[in-house]
Parts: sequence; C-alpha cells; structure tokens
Amino acid sequence: MRRCNEIYTIGASIKNLAPRGVREMRLKIMEVKLIVFVLLQAVTVRSQVNPEMCRYPLGMTGGQIQDEDISASSHWSESTAARFGRHVDLRSLHFITLVGTQGRHADGMGNEFAQRYRIKYSRDGSSWVGWHDRKGRQIIEGNSNAYDVVLKDLEPPIIARFVRFMPVTDHSMIVCMRVELYGCEWLDGLMSYSIPDGHQMIYRGLDVFFNDSVYDGASAERLTKGLGQLTDGTWGLDDFLHSHSYNFWPGYDYVGWNNRSFPRGYVEMIFEFDHVRNFSSMKVHCNNMFSRGVRMFRQVTCYFRSGSEWEADPVTFRPAVDRVSQSARFITVPLGDRTASTIKCRFHFSDLWMLFSEVAFQSGDDPTHKVDDSNTRILIGCLVAIIAILLAIIVIILWRQVWQKMLEKASRRMLDDELTARLAIQTRAFSFHHSIFPLCADYQEPSRLIRKLPEFSQSTEHLAFAAGGSDGAPHYAEADIISLQESSDSSTYSITAVNMNFFAGTDSSMREFPRQKLTFKEKLGEGQFGEVHLCEAEGMQDFLGEDLSIEGNNESPLLVAVKTLREDANKNARNDFLKEIRIMSRLRDPNIVRLLAVCVDTDPLCMITEYMENGDLNQFLCNLRLKAADEDEIKQEETEGKSMVSYTTLIGMAVQIASGMKYLSSLNFVHRDLATRNCLVGKKYTIKIADFGMSRNLYRGDYYRIQGRAVLPIRWMSWESILLGKFTMASDVWAFGVTLWEILTLCKEQPYSQLSDEQVIENTGEFFREQGKQVYLPKPPCCPDRIYKDLMLSCWRRNAKQRPSFQEIHSQLLESLA
Ligand code: AMP
Repeated sequence: MRRCNEIYTIGASIKNLAPRGVREMRLKIMEVKLIVFVLLQAVTVRSQVNPEMCRYPLGMTGGQIQDEDISASSHWSESTAARFGRHVDLRSLHFITLVGTQGRHADGMGNEFAQRYRIKYSRDGSSWVGWHDRKGRQIIEGNSNAYDVVLKDLEPPIIARFVRFMPVTDHSMIVCMRVELYGCEWLDGLMSYSIPDGHQMIYRGLDVFFNDSVYDGASAERLTKGLGQLTDGTWGLDDFLHSHSYNFWPGYDYVGWNNRSFPRGYVEMIFEFDHVRNFSSMKVHCNNMFSRGVRMFRQVTCYFRSGSEWEADPVTFRPAVDRVSQSARFITVPLGDRTASTIKCRFHFSDLWMLFSEVAFQSGDDPTHKVDDSNTRILIGCLVAIIAILLAIIVIILWRQVWQKMLEKASRRMLDDELTARLAIQTRAFSFHHSIFPLCADYQEPSRLIRKLPEFSQSTEHLAFAAGGSDGAPHYAEADIISLQESSDSSTYSITAVNMNFFAGTDSSMREFPRQKLTFKEKLGEGQFGEVHLCEAEGMQDFLGEDLSIEGNNESPLLVAVKTLREDANKNARNDFLKEIRIMSRLRDPNIVRLLAVCVDTDPLCMITEYMENGDLNQFLCNLRLKAADEDEIKQEETEGKSMVSYTTLIGMAVQIASGMKYLSSLNFVHRDLATRNCLVGKKYTIKIADFGMSRNLYRGDYYRIQGRAVLPIRWMSWESILLGKFTMASDVWAFGVTLWEILTLCKEQPYSQLSDEQVIENTGEFFREQGKQVYLPKPPCCPDRIYKDLMLSCWRRNAKQRPSFQEIHSQLLESLA
C-alpha cells in the first residue's frame, strides 16, 4: 500500500481554505480595509483576544508554520483503530478559533479524506489534552469528499503551541488530510491558571452553575494546570442568568464563587506564564448584578514569582465601588510593571457572590511587548500609508481643479489682453446666418449650451455673446489687428504687434468693373450679405487681361457669379463685405473660388467671382448616389432619379479641398467655417473653397475671442473652438475631418444627427475631459478603415498639435487613391 506522504499539510497548499471574510481581505482592492482591519486586530490583541477577529490562517500569515514545524510521523493507538499523525509546532502559543480540512488525491489508495477526526493539543509539548466542544463531544465531522474544504469553528477555542489531528477511521489505514488552522498569537503568554472551581447558585428555584466547564487541566480540590472559560474570549452578559448561547445552562459564561465557602474572604487564583514577563496590568471581566447578591471584587492583592519564591511586596488594588450600574465590566488592575513568571492574586469578596468571565494580562519589555511594539509600528506605518494615499488623492483632485482653473484663467487673460490692446473693435453683421438660420441648423448659438458644461458654467464670460449687431442680427465681434505669435518653444505664445500687410488696405490689383457690363441671368442663391446672381460679364477677359480658359470658362461674354450687398445692410455688414473682398483678392489657388473684380464705387457693393456651375457641394452631393465598387465607371446616368458617383470621385473632391486648405495654411490663414456647404462645385467635379466671411489670419485667429452673440457651426467645430473660442489651422483640420465625413456620407445626414445641440456641446465637453466618453462620428459605410482611423479620427484628436497638417492630409488622401 502506498503510504500517504503527509497526513497533515498545514497552510500553504490550501490557501482557499481561508474563510470568506479572510479571503476577501486578501484582495488588493480591499487593501485599505485590510489595513484598518489589521489595526483593529492589533488593538484588540493588546487588550484581550476577540474570537470574532482572531481568524487568520496561521500557516500562511508570516509563514509561521514551516515544513520543519510539522513533526515526523508519529503513531499511537487508541481503542481498536490505528492512528497516524503529525503534530504541528506553531512556535508560540496561539489562540486557535477555526480549523479547515480538505482531502487529498491518493491515487485511489487509502482514504483520500477524513470523515471524522479529533484534535489534541499541548502548550508545553509534553502534556496533551483532547479537545472537546462545550457539550463534551470530541469528534469533529470532517470531509465527505476529496475536494471540498470544510471549516469548523472551535468552540471553545484552543490555546496551544502544538496541535495534533487524529483521523477517526473504521479500519486501520492511512488517511490523507490537508489542514489549516486559523487564529492569532496568544500574547498573554498565560500557560495555565489555577482556581477553585466555581459554585452552584440557586436563584429563585433555578439552578445556576458557575463552574469552569471548559477547563482543560486537572480538576481536584482546585482546578490546576489548565485554561478554560476565563481565557475563552467570551465575556459574560450583564445578566448572568443568560449566556451567549441559549443551549447552555444559566450562569454558563461565568465562573463564580460564594463568599460563604471562603472563610478568609477571598478567592485565590494562580497564573502561570510561558516565561518571565514585565506585567503592566491585568484585566478582569466581572459581573456586578448587586440586586442578586453579585458584586465585583472589593480588593485584589497580587503576588509575583520569577523563581521559586514569592516576592514579599504584593500589589494591592481597590476598584471604585459601583452601587449604581449593574453592568458587567472589565476592571483593569495595574500591576506596576512587576516581573514574574507566576502571579498569584487574591480577589476579595464585596458581596455574597463574585463572578468572573475573563482574565487577561498585558505585559511589556519582553518578546510579547516587542510584538506589541511591532504592532504599534505596523499601526503607525499603516496610518502613515493611509494618510499618504489620501494626500495623493487630494493632490490629484486639486491638481485637476487647478489645471481647469488655469485653463479658464488663460482664456480670460487672453481676452483681457485683447481688450488692453485697445484695438478697434469691429462688429460684423451676419445677415447670412440671420436669414438662413431658421432654415439651416448647421449654425447654433452655443452660449447657453456651453454653460451647461460644469467646467465652463462659471467661466463663459469670454464666450458671453453680447446683444446682436446694430441690426439686431447675430454677429461675431473681433479685435481687428491683434496678433499673437507662437514663441520658439511652440508651447507658449507671446503677443506681437505685427503689421498685417496681408489684410491692410485694398488690393490695387482688384479693379472696379463697369457695373453696366453685367447682365443678370438668374438668381443662384442667397448668402450672408445678400443675393448671389448669375450674370454675363461683357469684356471680362479683356478687362482682366488674362486667359481664363484655364479656369474652364472661355465663353464670351463670361458667365460670372455676382454677390451683392443688401441695400439695407448696416455699416458693419458693409465693412465685413469689403473685408471679404480684401481677403479674397489676395487668394489665388485652383481650389479657392477666385474673385475677378468688384463694383464698389457706387452702391450696391458687388463682388464678381468665377461661376461654379454645380452650386454648393452639400446640395450637389445630396443629389448623388454612391456607385457600388463593381459598377461601371462614373456615368452621369440617372439611377432612381439620382446621378451616381464613385468613392474615388468623392476622395478626389476631398483631395481638392485639402489642396485648397493647404494653400490657405501656407498663408497662415484660418477659414473657420470649412464645410461642404461652403465649397462650390464647377465642371468635372472641380471643387473650390468659398465663403471667407469668417476667415481670419492664423495668428489673430489663434486668439480670436467670440464676444458677441454668435451663431456657430458647432457640429464642425473643434472642442477648443467651442469651449475656448480658439480657432487655428488645427481647428480647420477638425472641420476638414467633418467635411470629409460629409462627403463620404454624401451629405445624407447632418453630423451627429442623433444628438441635439445640447448633446453636441456636452460631447464637446467629453472631448475636453477625455475620459473616453466622447462620441465620434461613425465610419461612413464606404470609408475604408484606414481612412477612418488614420485620417478622419486623427483630425479629431484632443491635442491640436497631434492633428495632421493639411499637407499631410493632402498626401495621405492622394496616396489612398494610388
Ligand atoms: P454665399 O453667400 O457665398 O454663401 O452663397 C450663397 C449661395 O449662392 C451658395 O450656397 C451657392 O449656392 C451660390 N453661389 C455662391 N457663389 C457662387 C458661385 N461662384 N458660383 C455658383 N454659385 C454660387
């Protein structure tokens, strides 16, 4: 028969034996709880053991149980059954409250688990005591299979250094068990106490037994060499007739004595310790139900012995007499740091009965004290750790708040700087927005919406849009000449008064065209300043002196688009109209709508631009249908009433917009309102960027602060444009991402169509907070993963510096076509 290698394996192999509460404490997430728990434990140990708390796996904590502490196999015989066993040396006295057992695989040989077992224990390694429960039963029900862990509370608990498990089997055979012990170190060092056994009281006909029913030593005239109820960690109730368990007789929790049996008026108790200690105090839990003739002791006198002789000078203590409260209590007896290995105390009666339920000792300046000291150190260490963690959390919270405040402050400071510069403030009426707003939901007034964001609810002064322009229409207010330049480290900015040559004055090359040579053909649309008409411009080619056939229009008279300022336009609108002329007159790129001439000598003011046959890109795409990849090359054929367009053509359009924007960025020019609605479509899918009504120079645009009540294209705007009023090339890149998304969805729906305006602003806040809650526009069905992830999403990066440049976007799109 194969012999079982180990009958008892303590600890390490069965970590999962830990009771649920203990196991939970092992989770890291509960670390703080654990620390607090350990603190409680440390504090508890200092006074007296609390069996509820004292439930640590002794084989695991601190590695108390080493392999060598499991003794060689021993064999002893009781009754007819053979018993094999090893005892465990815990190295010091422990208070053991719980035992866990589990079977082991024995390859089918022998019993793989113990169905029943007994426990013997010893404090000194020589005299062994068989454990029994409070009702005298010695056998503990063990495992019913080889796998499950069975936990048994030891009632009463054991105070021992050595523990031996004895499987109870019907046959002589080898039994494998895995065992874990739970408890804590027994810091009292008390090996035994000797007392006269308790007496029986008859209270109103009721038998009340005050004997020490779990005493594990010898009982003759006195109880000797054992421990029992006075050290079981169970404190008696105020009413001694009741006990913690209803299963026991009245008086169960107390050991008590009748004064009449002690002619000298005191009960003598002798306490033996594991070694010489310095005793600071003794705690005695006493009943004080004086209405039934029970009182705590009147006086105690303790004698000390370190060697063979009792020392001459005892310590005497008289507790304050309590004639008011009948509650049971601990009385602390100071022992004056006396050194002893044995203490003899004489407790004097103050009434007919004296009942004790617990006695505990505190000693110092010895190993126990060192343990206490180490507990104190652990306690202090844990407190320091908790404080450090809390401080770290507070610092992180404060840092976040300070960071947000700095952000807001910086925004305000920039606004102040603008104002301090005392630059001319111009307001420009946006009749375009005013007039089309009821129809077009692309522009929103965000001030009220932004205030809903907690970070900005207190700090939107810089976004506080003033009353409308003089015509009452929503408008932007702008500082006209201020410019901020990026400093060399490119992370900070400094203000420089730069000469804005680019915008200053009128372009001498922009010539006045004779208005009478314009022949009205039809109305193309209505814009921010007024109406846009298709006109014939007689002699325009001669007038310009250049070949416009490159632009794809060599007809004569030339067809042009004429944008006219409304006759009732106010001064601001007029100024802005002239400013757009100034801007456009300097832009010359195949993908920017070209300004050909102006009529500004007399009213109404007109700007003459090249004519784009297919109108704006949004309307144009709206009327198209995407051609499936396997369909023929693009034909202007009608399918379901709609022309078809291929993905390649769409990307071709995006390439042109990127090219136009690349040109603008080379001039440090911020468009601010890039969207399909602001791009025009000519012949053969030629795309040109138009609508420079909102455009500004980059540097000024960097710090442009919206001061008036403005309508903003919030669904195209970057988070920093909405929240900080900051417009840059990078915010144009953000808008390009949205424009690309519009193109690839053929403008069939508005961006974030499922979100209300408020939700769009909230989403902007999420981009700002970047806690992963921000919602991105979804990948259009025809959009390849690479374009979506590498290009579109990169345009919407929170960090503006991490967004691609138009140069990069342009190349990337071109490459994707290759
Ligand atoms: P705008 O004021 O520039 O936004 O123009 C208003 C509308 O007029 C646009 O949406 C176009 O439909 C039309 N439009 C403006 N400029 C042109 C142009 N150069 N060629 C063709 N249509 C134009």
